[in-house]
Amino acid sequence: MRCVENPVMRILIISDIHANLTALETVLEDAKNQWEYVWCLGDVVGYGPDPNECVELLRSMPHLCLAGNHDWAALSRLDIRTFNPDARKAVDWTRETLKPENSAYLEALPTQFVIGSYTLVHGSPREPVWEYILEPVIAADNFDHFETPYCLVGHTHQPVIYEKNQSNGETVALQPVYGRKRQLNGRRQIINPGSVGQPRDANPDAAYAILDVETNQWEHRRVPYNIAAVQARMRTVGMPERLVVRLEHGW
Ligand code: ZN
Repeated sequence: MRCVENPVMRILIISDIHANLTALETVLEDAKNQWEYVWCLGDVVGYGPDPNECVELLRSMPHLCLAGNHDWAALSRLDIRTFNPDARKAVDWTRETLKPENSAYLEALPTQFVIGSYTLVHGSPREPVWEYILEPVIAADNFDHFETPYCLVGHTHQPVIYEKNQSNGETVALQPVYGRKRQLNGRRQIINPGSVGQPRDANPDAAYAILDVETNQWEHRRVPYNIAAVQARMRTVGMPERLVVRLEHGW
């Protein structure tokens, strides 16, 4: 775990880029001049056709980044027998394609950050690389596993806020309202910005968020990008068709 003083600035929150350079560039253009620092919640690579370009663009910005399960898969740091055959094929291609310096960058990524009021992990605070927080009951079990008011997660590719009601102990899922600032109110929350490069909430637009860590205001955002251009590059490098098609459906 790495601890950092609470910075006074606006943060671009991105997760699950999955080697989709077009989506990443579109997000950066959409959020231009609206942030001073990037927090990336992991899975920079895997599935998409641009692993080196995405790592290099991320490295060119002031940022921190967490390790995701697909980043580790691309480094042969985990057993990919549990991945489905299409995902395995993408992992093999990514491994062969990544330049040594970009693999070294991914190798050095930590699995958790604690920054002021925020804990950052890829999956969940209980299982930082692996666990999918897909429903309130799983979120509820995770509130005991971090100490800050807020925890930011990625991994599911679905934007959401899980909020714990302190009086009755119940955890509810709040759906994102895009383009509107939400004042974080001290209630404990687990917040997912969604996925830049492979959304899985039936909305194919790239998802990201802006967080003002001075005022604790959070804003979920969506932006359409040129999916066909990414699909063409995926076909050129021989990615499985199922992975190519899913981008346009957002699953
Ligand atoms: Zn992912």
